[in-house]
Amino acid sequence: MADVTPRPLRTAEVIAVGSELLGATRVDTNSLFLAERLGSIGIELRAKAVVGDNRGDLAALFRQASERADVVILTGGLGPTDDDLTRDVVADVLGRPLEEDAEIVARLRQRFASRGLRMPEVNRRQAQVPRGATVLANPNGTAPGLLIEQNGRLIVLLPGPPREVQPMFESLITAWLEPRTGRERLHYLRVFVTGRTESHVEEAIQPIYSPWRTADPPVETTILAAPGQIELHFTTRSSDGAAARAMLDKVRDAIVAALGEDVFSVDGRPMEVVVGEMLQAAGLTIAAAESCTGGLTLSRLTDVPGSSAYVRGGIVAYSNDVKASALDVPPHLIASHGAVSEPVAAAMAAGVRGRLGADVGIGITGIAGPDGGSAQKPVGTVALALDGPGGYARARTVWLPGGRSQVKMLASQAALDMVRRALMQDAAVRRR
Ligand code: ATP
Repeated sequence: MADVTPRPLRTAEVIAVGSELLGATRVDTNSLFLAERLGSIGIELRAKAVVGDNRGDLAALFRQASERADVVILTGGLGPTDDDLTRDVVADVLGRPLEEDAEIVARLRQRFASRGLRMPEVNRRQAQVPRGATVLANPNGTAPGLLIEQNGRLIVLLPGPPREVQPMFESLITAWLEPRTGRERLHYLRVFVTGRTESHVEEAIQPIYSPWRTADPPVETTILAAPGQIELHFTTRSSDGAAARAMLDKVRDAIVAALGEDVFSVDGRPMEVVVGEMLQAAGLTIAAAESCTGGLTLSRLTDVPGSSAYVRGGIVAYSNDVKASALDVPPHLIASHGAVSEPVAAAMAAGVRGRLGADVGIGITGIAGPDGGSAQKPVGTVALALDGPGGYARARTVWLPGGRSQVKMLASQAALDMVRRALMQDAAVRRR
């Protein structure tokens, strides 16, 4: 196979190599990152595969991919051990002999020496390079990447660990991929919706989005159910960035008009960021009293950089006596309504607001399961309440599906959404 003139790079395939990725404990996340980065420079990911450390299986997959795609990216299997096969298999399929690269050996020795260690001889495997390949520096690990140009295609070998893959791929984009792509780019819009099921969202927007498939530029729509939210992904491919943006702005406006306040984000921001920004804009602080969510809501709020500007703190009051002693929930409320009830959630919200000196308090109490449910209050029953300035109060009960961790996640989402809707709908809560 002789090298030919480079052609524009339009399509890619990714092969994740590693038997551990076929097991029940590890997931291939590299391809998600690669898909996003490839899309951003207009290269379409057409297929991806996960394969174990098996010579024959990897060779077959790689052979197919390299007959179809302009760019084939393999991640993993570049380590020093016997089961690290990627380099050997690729060299074999491409008919290029492996040669030791003295510079890589020197760099590896130096890397070990800088930690006061002798380099094990097995690491010399990582210095084996298929003839004619370009070596890609790996600032975060021992395995260098490799790039091979063959028949106008690019074959890229990257190590497995995501923290090594990511910076290496960014350099590759700048030096090798972007200069060889066409002018077309993929443009995205992500809209997040809450308070409706996937099918209700589909029902409401299907008549709106179907004509966009044949618009100019055409827009593809994907609806995905995620915990606590429905995600709408709109994608368009165009060489005219302004036209693509204008089209996606039209899409956004039509979707917001159809779904109203159930849309909480039109730019990929998660709920905790949206709520945080609303609190900050209103000049309000928040505190959370959590029972079944065990602090998850406060954890999510404080995942956001800068949240100290509006988060006062939280109290996890799991047992009834802590609800009384730490949040001033009157024991008779628990006795008469039960710990999972709107009056108790309201008392928790008022208690945490008062104790921590916040403008807005939220209370969450529910049954995460799998035990503890009853006929009147099945597993997944969660009471939520908000206590705000000037006697402002809201409470509601939700019935959430799923196992323990899903109920916790959905309950925290519903609590944050309650704050969001209160801030949107009621000027009273904004008036301190
Ligand atoms: P190195 O020698 O630098 O570790 P390697 O090429 O030998 O690189 P692997 O041994 O295949 O890499 O994988 C190393 C680690 O990276 C493992 O913990 C593995 O689970 C993780 N990993 C490998 N491939 C992926 C992937 N596609 N997505 C997410 N993690 C991955």
